[in-house]
Amino acid sequence: MATKHHVTPMLDELENGPWPSFISGFKRLRDDHPDARINGLANGLLGQLEHSYETRKGYWKGGTVSVFGYGGGIIPRFSEVGNAFVESKEFHTVRVQPPASNFYSTDMLRQLGDSWEKHGSGLVTFHGQTGNIMFIGTDTSRIQHFFDEINEYGFDLGGAGPCVRTAMSCIGSARCEMSCFNEQAAHRHLVNNFTDDVHRPALPYKFKFKFSGCPNDCQNAIERADFAVIGTWRDDMRVDQAEFKAAIEKKGRQYIIDNVITRCPTNALALNDDDTIAVDNRNCVRCMHCLNVLPKALGVGEDRGVTILVGGKRTLKIGDLMGTVVVPFMKLRTEEDFEQIVEMAEEIVDFWAENGLEHERTGEMIERIGLVNFLEGIGIDVDPNMVSNPRQSSYIRMDGWDEAAVEWFEKKAEKAAG
Ligand code: SF4
Repeated sequence: MATKHHVTPMLDELENGPWPSFISGFKRLRDDHPDARINGLANGLLGQLEHSYETRKGYWKGGTVSVFGYGGGIIPRFSEVGNAFVESKEFHTVRVQPPASNFYSTDMLRQLGDSWEKHGSGLVTFHGQTGNIMFIGTDTSRIQHFFDEINEYGFDLGGAGPCVRTAMSCIGSARCEMSCFNEQAAHRHLVNNFTDDVHRPALPYKFKFKFSGCPNDCQNAIERADFAVIGTWRDDMRVDQAEFKAAIEKKGRQYIIDNVITRCPTNALALNDDDTIAVDNRNCVRCMHCLNVLPKALGVGEDRGVTILVGGKRTLKIGDLMGTVVVPFMKLRTEEDFEQIVEMAEEIVDFWAENGLEHERTGEMIERIGLVNFLEGIGIDVDPNMVSNPRQSSYIRMDGWDEAAVEWFEKKAEKAAG
């Protein structure tokens, strides 16, 4: 028997206008999907949403839903008005970890889509802000079956709650010439090592890993990751003068002056009389502007590696925080390099698990206890490169800076020599 459609005048308004509407998508599921269960789910969902718009209240409440052996990964959604919208009275979201850099084959996507239509509503988000594939809308009785099915062909639940969360990595060298390390390998090494901490929430709060192949930071790792791994280089940037001259010929000298040379935040670029470019590499702060505008003429250097920053996060207690550099540069190529980064991450997570307050992110803990204490706790020496904005802060005296740096490096070398 066909279900009676809920009347949705307010939601219908959202279908007006030039953009595709999610309401039209819900209606397609309600009216055109061959499975009556999914028609009902979409109908209930539309009805409850209209009711929310009328009353200006949300009616989803949490609870506890899980799969065997896991403590997280499911966002429970029980309806407070389930009696009126019975078909969708449970509408849980399943968080599933995508492959590193979100590389899928079409077969894989079809498989996931089919499993979700079998056990859920058919509504999926690729991907939520958390980095997970969000399978939205199913009831408690079906979750275990869905999980077993996708787990069988290689997918696992993501993090939810106070735990290590699903990591994110940029697309990397497969499609981007700026890539400075193997983002997928770093992602896999770290996430595989922390699988237990993803599935069984036992930390003060969430902990996120993000991997960006270059300082463009397409994953917003510096702003959003407790442990940000960002690609960089420490030699000179690659310059192809022939390509640079071709760019001048194509765009004109004035265009290059206005859009590249004068846009360098540290005045590290100069245009020579013979239409070649001079780069003062020691003063380049890797803002990436010139490389982005002239990707053929300018490129990342050959001596590539990563910078590691800790403590980035969005709002919560003390406002947004950018990550703080704890490792200015390290190579990330060999198995030993990966072991080293995993060990460092373990030190940091352990230290935070012991010293963080409940509901306190790493960045907030560092603010509370001080960077020096944090570095001492994780066994990393203080380094002048960790000063935030060294060229801009008016509180830092720059006179005598070079001599002080030489002294510091000498001391460090003496210490290392024993
Ligand atoms: Fe200047 Fe940025 Fe180019 Fe470096 S990357 S030379 S800081 S514009």
